[in-house]
Amino acid sequence: MDTMETERIIEESERELAEQFRCLERVAYANQCKVMEAFQKNKIALRHFAASSGYGYGDEGRDTLNALFADIFGAEAALVSPNILSGTHALTVGLFGLLRTGDVLFSISGEPYDTLQEVIGGKDIGSLADYGIRFKKCELIEGEFNFDSIRSGLADKAVKVVFIQRSRGYEWRDALSEEKIRKACEFVRSCGFTGCIFVDNCYGEFVETTEPTQNGADVCVGSLIKNAGGGVAPTGGYIVGKRDYIDKIAGRLTAPSIGAEVGSYAYGYQYFYEGVFLAPHVVCQALKGGLLIGACLEKLGYKTSPSVQSAPYDITRAIRFNTRDELIGFIQAVQEASPVDSYVNLEPWDMPGYQEQVIMAAGTFVQGASIELSADAPVKEPYIAYFQGGLTYEHCRYALTKILKKIRKQ
Ligand SMILES: *Cc1c(COP(=O)(O)O)cnc(C)c1O
Repeated sequence: MDTMETERIIEESERELAEQFRCLERVAYANQCKVMEAFQKNKIALRHFAASSGYGYGDEGRDTLNALFADIFGAEAALVSPNILSGTHALTVGLFGLLRTGDVLFSISGEPYDTLQEVIGGKDIGSLADYGIRFKKCELIEGEFNFDSIRSGLADKAVKVVFIQRSRGYEWRDALSEEKIRKACEFVRSCGFTGCIFVDNCYGEFVETTEPTQNGADVCVGSLIKNAGGGVAPTGGYIVGKRDYIDKIAGRLTAPSIGAEVGSYAYGYQYFYEGVFLAPHVVCQALKGGLLIGACLEKLGYKTSPSVQSAPYDITRAIRFNTRDELIGFIQAVQEASPVDSYVNLEPWDMPGYQEQVIMAAGTFVQGASIELSADAPVKEPYIAYFQGGLTYEHCRYALTKILKKIRKQ
């Protein structure tokens, strides 16, 4: 496919997507307003960006960052920290903080994300199971909550945490909308559940104008190298929610005797503040970029999920290719269009923990940051690539020109 033809397909898709883009821009604007109000309410000032050291007693940058996130998420309290190492770590700390021996963790959105499998059920590695905490789940049915099985699951009074994963993870299903999450939370309460409703919020932040903690969830958790870090946070995670729950979790993040009173960061907090300030816009860029790539590939006959006709509820998108070569070509094109490591020739490899070979494009400024344009795929049938992110719409558009040229050549 030559440059003129790729440009024609892209421009046609942009025209068709104009109304959807406007909707996404309206969401970004509403979220920017929400973030600005929180910055002003908390009187953010230069001193909050200062470095701290040692125990970090009285570290205003840390404490105010917590308060800022709590306000943005409509929650009572938050833990936002470079000492939360990733989304998986945030989820782990949250669950261990809330659950005790004999309790049951009940997932109502099916199997949790891959990296939680061992956290929940690993043998002799310090998993929840090792501490006598049991796990139950009920599957979504065609992307919808199964209210009958939720009700019967909740008849077990040992259930102390109800778990919901907002994003689709690596599955061919849509992410859950806030509307669906709100209805599920209401239903769980109507069954008499008095424990904690806990949401894995990874990839979902700022995609809609409200967050799960504003729709009935007690705690929600995510990574700062995804949406909420706005592409500039260098590392970290967050946990927001009801104060009692956050206090319990803080005791687990550090130690029961010190909770959220300690924790320092020698590089200072500027990029965490700046990141959440940028996040509504950056998430919008990623969503628009994902729609554009999806629309162009749908025009060429590939299936994408969610379909480009429907509103996206997270920043990820899956594309189904016909052949192994097309799949690998797509991932390679994303790498070649990256600002970092563009010269690297990607190949599938035997990644630890995976049954089949995997190929990953991650030419990112922050290692593994999936708010930046990135893509990966297990190399097996059906040939599905998952991609997400893009700090700017222009970068997504640029990457798309490379993708179109590459997969059409094959
Ligand atoms: C990314 C992700 C995680 C894990 O986060 P890491 O930062 O990769 O550890 C958990 N759940 C969902 C839905 C995710 O998208």
